[in-house]
Amino acid sequence: MGILVLLCLFGILTGCADQAKLAKEQLAEESNPDRQQIQIFAMDTIMDLKVYDKDGEKAKDALLTCEKEINRLDGVLSATRESSEVSKINQNAGKEPVVVGEDTKELLNFAKEMYRETEGAFDITIAPVVSEWGFTKEEKKVPAKEEIQKLLQKVDIEKLSLDGENAFLTEEGMSIDLGGIAKGYTSDLVTKILKEKGIAHGIVSLGGNISAIGTREDGGKWKVAVQNPLDENDYVGVLEVSDLSVVTSGGYQRYFEQDGVRYHHIIDPKNGYPANNGLLSVSIICPQGQKADVLSTALFVMGKEKALDYWRKRGGFEAVLVTEAKEVLVTSGLKESFTYHEREGFSFTVVQ
Ligand code: ADP
Ligand code: MG
Repeated sequence: MGILVLLCLFGILTGCADQAKLAKEQLAEESNPDRQQIQIFAMDTIMDLKVYDKDGEKAKDALLTCEKEINRLDGVLSATRESSEVSKINQNAGKEPVVVGEDTKELLNFAKEMYRETEGAFDITIAPVVSEWGFTKEEKKVPAKEEIQKLLQKVDIEKLSLDGENAFLTEEGMSIDLGGIAKGYTSDLVTKILKEKGIAHGIVSLGGNISAIGTREDGGKWKVAVQNPLDENDYVGVLEVSDLSVVTSGGYQRYFEQDGVRYHHIIDPKNGYPANNGLLSVSIICPQGQKADVLSTALFVMGKEKALDYWRKRGGFEAVLVTEAKEVLVTSGLKESFTYHEREGFSFTVVQ
């Protein structure tokens, strides 16, 4: 989560045909006197908020409000802070229900709904397994098969009971982890605050979860690069967006190697192992940051065919998939807004 998944194009300089134009845009953006920016470390990642407004005080006030809200949410949703609502739910698994606030309630309800929609690919009760792999600790290791089997019995969001103000993990040993959804939820709240404060132009990156507020100040769309999962200094294409979130999940973001094999942090709840279905990354583009966050993780777990079927069946979002076979697959709604960065060994397809 500490690594930027998607880089705002203004940070990337590679041999691209439009390089001169991009450099010019970058310069204009950096020297724009209407820009106000803050960086915050929260939810285990770097958050970067940029807004543009003629009224500097208004912009600063809006950013300050966002900062407070982000820190508040971090205190509520963090699985590592002992006093958070999420920690309390985990500490009381199998014991008793915990009273939670609006944010936790809304988020847990959405997580449940998405578990059903994704047929189990997204499950926040995967936490005991993620923890056994060591992704929440310093020491990462491949767990014993038997241990994974045992812990998988504790994975089932249907055993998370939500009743009014109460949240209850009904079996001891269960726990939840909002790493695949909390940043998305937060990005929606930040977008809402900025809009309420009258900010019409902004770009927010919460550890790679990008949300574009309106357009750029000159009316142009925001440009967001989709990283090449095989090379962090490279990108496979550029999206032009306004009022949209762009969220990427990939096995290249958080991983460790053991005996020459790479193990990453997105776990397939069906078997307890890092999802290994031929995908290197999934980027989701849709108006809701929370949905984009969940779907990027879920479609990565599903693999190419199931992910594309899900898109065909459900709709309401667009996607960019990069496969192990070096295919860049873009759903048809992005035909106009995605510019493929042609590169050797890669192929590009618009999927219908
Ligand atoms: P990141 O947070 O690195 O941007 P994701 O949004 O894909 O990446 O979320 C991955 C995180 O979500 C993991 O670190 C873990 O905490 C949690 N997670 C892993 N597998 C799943 C899953 N199948 N369903 C829900 N959450 C998961
Ligand atoms: Mg996610």
